[in-house]
Amino acid sequence: MATVTLRFYAELNDHLPEGRRRVPFEQSFEHPSTIRLLLESLNIPVSEVDLVLVNGSSVDLSYEVKNGDRISVYPVFDSFDISSVEKIHPRPLRQPRFILDVHLGKLAYHLRMLGFDTLYRNDYHDRDLLMISSTEGRVILTKDRKLLEEPTVTRGYCIMGKDPREQLLEVLRRFDLFDSTDPFTRCLLCNSLLRPVTKEAVLHRLPEKVKGLFNEFQLCPTCDRVYWKGSHYEKMEKFIEGVMGEERRGM
Ligand SMILES: [Zn+2]
Repeated sequence: MATVTLRFYAELNDHLPEGRRRVPFEQSFEHPSTIRLLLESLNIPVSEVDLVLVNGSSVDLSYEVKNGDRISVYPVFDSFDISSVEKIHPRPLRQPRFILDVHLGKLAYHLRMLGFDTLYRNDYHDRDLLMISSTEGRVILTKDRKLLEEPTVTRGYCIMGKDPREQLLEVLRRFDLFDSTDPFTRCLLCNSLLRPVTKEAVLHRLPEKVKGLFNEFQLCPTCDRVYWKGSHYEKMEKFIEGVMGEERRGM
């Protein structure tokens, strides 16, 4: 038998019993074992784990655990500055990139609205999701928990919420994204980053009513859609305000 000290961070604690959450605890196991086996024995979904530090150094899941190791386990996205928690390698916060299953079209639309890099197609097969997620390092968001049990999945999260607003809040909370939004910077249809464009350049394509009322326009370089701050925009802005207001509640 060997014994290690484990400490889990942020939402990974949800998987632990009371008493082991947010504190270091000792765990004994049959030697030899790897990080992956150890996490599985604790019922931690490895798809939700992004960083494992052993005695302060980053290791992968195949690391063979040794007696006396101190192991820190972090979720896919840091919800805090981990460099202040322990003397460990500083790690930059990253912008999350997502890929969504076919049932989450509305969520994809809303994530794009908030500026998150979000791939979605209504004809994605499971194998597309798995392949794109692993080649592009994208987090799979899905309603299908089974999909996340596929051995190739390293980043994934199962959406519990039913309506799209609830789902959006769930993702913002889960990955602590309230401070990372950049609304109205992406094409809602195809996910490309929008570019400002002069009124002259798109004038011939604007409805008569819009020509007189608006002067700022953005263009999608991929699908060529033109955006302006019309009534639809105002509705979306209200929606976003409401969602961001939820940050203070229900955390
Ligand atoms: Zn587009």
